[in-house]
Amino acid sequence: MASALEVGSRFIASTMHEVRTPLQTIIGTLELLEETPLNKEQIEYIRQIEFSSNALLGLANDVLDFSKMNSDNFELEIQPFDVIELTERVVDLITVESFNRGLEVITNIDYDIPRSIMGDPFRIQQILLNLVKNASKYTDKGFIYVRLSMRKGGNALLFEVVDSGVGVPEDKKDFIFDDYYQVESISTRKAGGTGLGLPIAKKLVDFMKGRIGVLQNPSGGSNFWFTLPLERSCMNQLIAKKMNLPLNMKVLVVDDSILALKSTRLKLNYFGISAVDVASSCDDALEKLESSCNSNAPYAIVFIDLIMQGVDGWRVASEIKKRFNKNDMRLYLMVPEGQLKKEGRMKMLDWFNGYIYKPIKYKQLEELLLNYADSNFAQNAENSNVKESGADSLTENKVNSVLAEQIGNGMNVLVAEDQPINRLLLETFVKKYGAKVFSAENGQIVVDIIKQHPEIDLVFMDIFMPVKTGMDATIELRNGGYKGIIVACTANNDEADFKEYKKIGMNDIIVKPFKKVTIKECLAKWNSVLNVPNSKDMLSLMLLEKKSSDMWDIEDFMDTTEHNREFAISLMDEYIVQMNQLIENLKNELSKKDLDFSKIELYTHTMKGSSASVSAVRFAELGRRMNNAAKQRNLVELEEARINFEIDFITLVNIIENWKNSI
Ligand code: ADP
Repeated sequence: MASALEVGSRFIASTMHEVRTPLQTIIGTLELLEETPLNKEQIEYIRQIEFSSNALLGLANDVLDFSKMNSDNFELEIQPFDVIELTERVVDLITVESFNRGLEVITNIDYDIPRSIMGDPFRIQQILLNLVKNASKYTDKGFIYVRLSMRKGGNALLFEVVDSGVGVPEDKKDFIFDDYYQVESISTRKAGGTGLGLPIAKKLVDFMKGRIGVLQNPSGGSNFWFTLPLERSCMNQLIAKKMNLPLNMKVLVVDDSILALKSTRLKLNYFGISAVDVASSCDDALEKLESSCNSNAPYAIVFIDLIMQGVDGWRVASEIKKRFNKNDMRLYLMVPEGQLKKEGRMKMLDWFNGYIYKPIKYKQLEELLLNYADSNFAQNAENSNVKESGADSLTENKVNSVLAEQIGNGMNVLVAEDQPINRLLLETFVKKYGAKVFSAENGQIVVDIIKQHPEIDLVFMDIFMPVKTGMDATIELRNGGYKGIIVACTANNDEADFKEYKKIGMNDIIVKPFKKVTIKECLAKWNSVLNVPNSKDMLSLMLLEKKSSDMWDIEDFMDTTEHNREFAISLMDEYIVQMNQLIENLKNELSKKDLDFSKIELYTHTMKGSSASVSAVRFAELGRRMNNAAKQRNLVELEEARINFEIDFITLVNIIENWKNSI
């Protein structure tokens, strides 16, 4: 019998499910409402409803997550992903809001970490996001500093989130990872929350065999950290693109935050630029520029922070332009996202060659330096100075590419949805994020489009569609060898259904109504996976492995055949022939007007027995179900099990073929 506690938590979980669905509808509808013409007052009211709905949704999600983690069937995903990109993306989620409140957000990421590691990116994101959100919540002024590095001789990752906020009192440190615990203070009450964020983070870190804790931050504030064992994926490692940067190139970074200066310098060092000087004020910068010109070793690039105490980035740039009229020295503005409005952009073009968002991200810096290297190379080749107009058009390109926040860039996405409004909404979001969009209104069209465009990377697959359902289309695509990402789109929140979707080869699930941020996160997540070389092969192999262990217990079979390769192969060949024959016989028999149940019982009995003897567990079970159904004359059950047998058998044959090639 279930304990009172279990019953209680099951009750809470199902109530939260019920709360979540209407809330999601409210939020989805608000997003639609926002796209219509509204006045300022109405927009403000919408923001308030949105804020409260999101807070409630956060609470429901926390409670649900928490009870899920306490249940037996909680599982982590394992897939290759780019941990650097993930960390930068998570930090991005709090950057705009934090900079708007005057906080400095700094990242310090060891770019030597392998780009492709194995783990559960969604859950790692959840842990890190919780810590950075807390850092932002409990910090009024100063900074949030996120560091990612390798530990223990490269066998573990260390994430650190340091802030200059209220800090956690020494005597409370031992409790904050306890369920529902909140340090009772004005700032906690002001910030709201459930007291579940840290316990969830701790549970997840424990699941991943890592450690989590909090340290005293000498300058006030807190220092949360967690470690995770580092599991490299077997995929190729990405190496920084080769750049034709000039030898002995000198760079100056101007910023009033020491932490930010250090972080930018490290990032530049990684790209092979070792001569990086730093200046923490306008005067300091001008002095360094003066002496570099005098010593005839001028700076190739100067990065200038926009927001500095005293003299801001604009002034620094204008002073530099006034005193050092040098066309070959490039100035880049470092600016927090959202701080440079349209006018700012125009102004920026007068003073700077481009700009880059703070905290600086790997990809953007790489792109900026590649552009610099290319234009510098071209300039040298022509052995002449680039004319102003030429420099302008280059600048234009650079600005565009450096700024591109198109997280779906380079992706081909198919939107499969029968409801026209939902389809349009999804297509609009996907296009907005820079992906190329195909669309289909039923499962059959999906299959046809993929046949013509196997390059499609990701399918948003509605489950209930006419002609052919999303599940049938997925089965057909996977049996046909399609290796792209398939994301189930469903209004249903049922965990059991999710498992079923994954079983047939879907990679991910999003719940309707569609939220812009969900689509964004989904695209970002899968784009970072797809950026890793060979990831599609790897993912499909993993799907197959997962599926194959459900279908066929190879180890058990090899034990039975005493690891005699020839014998094992001949047995499986014979099994395939026999099953194909029986599948055919059974189908024929069931299509007759007068059914001969003795034959049906015999066929299904043999299907059960033969499958069991070669350890094809799933087929032995389906055979048993068919056989029982035949005995009870239950044709509905018989037909359902027969269809499953027939469909899964195609996959099993694929698995057997792979196995034959590998042993
Ligand atoms: P909550 O939803 O209340 O933020 P958490 O489990 O995430 O729940 O955190 C538990 C408590 O730990 C918070 O109520 C807060 O008092 C304290 N805390 C967490 N992070 C920080 C931080 N960065 N600075 C100060 N206090 C923190």
